[in-house]
Amino acid sequence: MALNIPGYTLLRKANGVLKRIRNEQRGLILTPSRRIARVAPPGERIVAMTFDDGPTKMPPSRGTIPDNGRVWTPAPTTGDAPTSVGGGVHTAPPSPYTASPPSPDSAGGAGLTEHLLSVLKEFGARGTFDVVGSTAENYPDAAGEPGGQYVFGKKYDHYAAFGLDDMAGAQACQDLIRRIAREGHELTNHTYRHIIYGKSRAMYSSRVTMSGLAEAVADLKRLHTLIYELTKIEMRFTRPPHYVDKMPDGHTSFNACEAMGYHYLSASFDGGGYLPSAASYAETVEAMVRPMREALEADPSCLAGQIIFQKDGYNMSKHTPIADALKLHLELLEKYGYRVITVSELVARSPFEDVRPAHDCFEAVRELDKAGFITGFRNNRFYPDRAMTRGELNTVIATPVFNLTGDARPGNASAAHISARTYDLTGDARPGNASADATGEAVPSRRSRAIKIDKKDQASVKQISARASEVFDKTEGQPASNKRGDVAVWLHKLTVLNGLC
Ligand SMILES: [Zn+2]
Repeated sequence: MALNIPGYTLLRKANGVLKRIRNEQRGLILTPSRRIARVAPPGERIVAMTFDDGPTKMPPSRGTIPDNGRVWTPAPTTGDAPTSVGGGVHTAPPSPYTASPPSPDSAGGAGLTEHLLSVLKEFGARGTFDVVGSTAENYPDAAGEPGGQYVFGKKYDHYAAFGLDDMAGAQACQDLIRRIAREGHELTNHTYRHIIYGKSRAMYSSRVTMSGLAEAVADLKRLHTLIYELTKIEMRFTRPPHYVDKMPDGHTSFNACEAMGYHYLSASFDGGGYLPSAASYAETVEAMVRPMREALEADPSCLAGQIIFQKDGYNMSKHTPIADALKLHLELLEKYGYRVITVSELVARSPFEDVRPAHDCFEAVRELDKAGFITGFRNNRFYPDRAMTRGELNTVIATPVFNLTGDARPGNASAAHISARTYDLTGDARPGNASADATGEAVPSRRSRAIKIDKKDQASVKQISARASEVFDKTEGQPASNKRGDVAVWLHKLTVLNGLC
């Protein structure tokens, strides 16, 4: 059953409304792990670009469009195992999962990820590769029809394609992972097996899901460890498969982020490289480029601080329009004076969505964020003009205060505990971030605007408050007001004076 595009568009619109509501709710939760979709436009035209679901050794697929004299036609979903891809010998997965062999015409060409890396290099652009580990364990399964959301598998996703799981992912493409790192791009954790975290309301209803937080965290750690072994890089961001957050055990993607010390990597501008193909390959590429061209024509600065979603793999029709659209995207961005940098660099330039460079607290907030102090909310806002509650203040100041008083020793449980906690302003101070909680039970959230500190934290909070009074009494000045921005300016001054920031 092929997916019809208008229906899909409608679903996405409805989903967009839900997303906005959820994002407002995230603005009530103070956390070390924020969902970053975009940041406040910094003083220059900079943008980030994420490439999902790779890396892959599979060659670009343009359907029947000639590729430098070669023609690569996506093969049928059943058939003999491929014998040669990209000049190397490809060992087929065991029957009956063999499918989609590329035609011999594609042999000797660069794989898609290599091709994307070359294009990025040509433009001096640095991408953010949101990689998977491997989907090879995601069987038994059946392939879906091209053009629909199940094209990669009915119960699971399979990358690069159903039956060709060993042609994609960090495990099978270790040289590509090393090359991505070596060429200055960022690697982020798109989970090892790309299993959806929980049931999705409208789409992917036949998918097998994670059982809960413990399984999700184990999966993330597996890829984190592999990437560290290959590159010595500690990843800092994760994007849940298909952005589904709610797990069957009541935990969410945010709890997984907190357990891993990650931020949640979202995106704000859709490159469209995953959508089903149009009538021709040329139109498919144009459908990816047009929205960016029109947006920039209407407002040349509109992409500053945004994160653009791209695909490092096939779209739902098993084509790779990104192979040609990327160059056109980069030409447009260059024409309008943009630099493409990694997500980490973007966040280092301007961490929050609502603190603009012109705001009095911009520098202070940026430096505090860099130093790792908790300052933000789940929706990546800082709310500089909102009053800071006592609970928030305790949470935010815990790390610097314990550093100032020499109590930030390893093993000082209360300092680490309080500063790493997520506080849910919608209800309880909900456990769920510490790795110990990965196997714990979910605590249901109750609606309430006031921050609550649970009983076991109260002693720590008192201790922090007492310490804070000692330290702050010896420091000149007080915040200009109780606004979060003013408190940040004052806290930054304090940490600079004491050599912490
Ligand atoms: Zn994905």
